[in-house]
Amino acid sequence: MYDVIIAGGSIAGLLCAREIALNGHSVLVLEEDYEIGTPEHCGGLVSMTALDDLGIIPHRKTFDHLIDTAKIHFPNNKTITINSKKQRVAEINRRELDKQIALQAQKNGADIRVKTSVKEFSKDGVRTNDGFEECKVIVDARGVSSLIQKDRTGILSSAQYEVYAEWIDKSTVEVYFDKEKYPGFFAWIIPSSNGTGKVGVAGKGINAAMVLEEFLSSKGKYSVIRKIFAPIWIKGPIEKFVNQNIVTIGDAAGQSKPTTAGGIFSCGMGGIMAGRAISKFLETNDFAELEKYPKEWKNKFGKEFEKQSFARNILERLENDTINKLSDSVTEDMIKDISEKDDFDFHTSSIVKLLGLKGSLKTAQALFGNEIKKLLASN
Ligand SMILES: Cc1cc2nc3c(=O)[nH]c(=O)nc-3n(C[C@H](O)[C@H](O)[C@H](O)COP(=O)(O)OP(=O)(O)OC[C@H]3O[C@@H](n4cnc5c(N)ncnc54)[C@H](O)[C@@H]3O)c2cc1C
Repeated sequence: MYDVIIAGGSIAGLLCAREIALNGHSVLVLEEDYEIGTPEHCGGLVSMTALDDLGIIPHRKTFDHLIDTAKIHFPNNKTITINSKKQRVAEINRRELDKQIALQAQKNGADIRVKTSVKEFSKDGVRTNDGFEECKVIVDARGVSSLIQKDRTGILSSAQYEVYAEWIDKSTVEVYFDKEKYPGFFAWIIPSSNGTGKVGVAGKGINAAMVLEEFLSSKGKYSVIRKIFAPIWIKGPIEKFVNQNIVTIGDAAGQSKPTTAGGIFSCGMGGIMAGRAISKFLETNDFAELEKYPKEWKNKFGKEFEKQSFARNILERLENDTINKLSDSVTEDMIKDISEKDDFDFHTSSIVKLLGLKGSLKTAQALFGNEIKKLLASN
């Protein structure tokens, strides 16, 4: 019998296991895929501060350079270029990163079993394709697949291809907004190195593969080396992270950003915070210890995620004409300000600046009323 069984061996589940094992408790991670980190369903953009907070020093297999520039393209082909050097954002190889965390967890004493699918949770353990495993605490770290049965309305379909293409520049991330092509989201280019990278699209009700292939063709010559189709969650955290002895973490708890669906940092922190709370619970048998995890996560990310949800509500309602008008009102000073002060992990203040809300509040308020006030609060 294990103290804890974790369903899902990705960033949240593995970091949770690392913490629990560090505190001397027995923990088993069950991963349904045949290899940790594969298939890689991630663009791999993460700040160095986040990696530091997650207790990860990336080694050379995981990453080799930082991103210097972010280019934002608008429907009218206007582009703004932000210098992102200060934010110290890296493109990392998730396949390697997840393996690195698996090794950290294993060294602390965690057991990891691949090709084992969790079918059902019960009070005393989990049923897998391989039998029943008994435990005191169950952790749901199954990613967005865990949310699909609960609420489909927060899910967008995405497609991301890893490609060889000469038009990919090693130091530049690109984002393309176009309400008609990518409703509710955008297209992206994340470089792995010169001529190699991850190109993706997501959006409401789109055929992601078809839209991505159109986007790729519009960019020029390319060869696909890997295709990933994965749902992304953009509706923010679910209501309850803890239900008796079942603890939900990571994407399964809606812990990725409502704006970009980026979740390495916030999902990973969910795993770490839950791991610590579970350890305390195992030592005291006091359920109040488990409840400290949602509080801690919400203290760190709650306000920012709420603001991101407001920003999303606004952005979703903007037609291409309005997006183009907003792009016209972006000044050199605003770009400089964003370059100097943006925080990759807590980025609503930059969205506020880009939307021109501080400058042209009157027009914006007429358009979106109260949502703007909420978004501006504390920005
Ligand atoms: C296309 C795309 C691009 C992205 N780009 C970025 C980015 O650039 N930066 C960023 O920060 N975030 C990005 N994200 C989000 C990021 O990948 C996720 O937020 C993060 O991986 C969530 O981690 P997790 O451990 O909660 O869940 P996941 O990484 O989804 O892992 C869940 C794990 O559970 C396993 N599993 C599922 N069901 C079962 C079961 N029944 N039994 C056992 N195991 C099971 C799965 O196989 C998987 O390994 C991206 C996501 C997508 C889809």
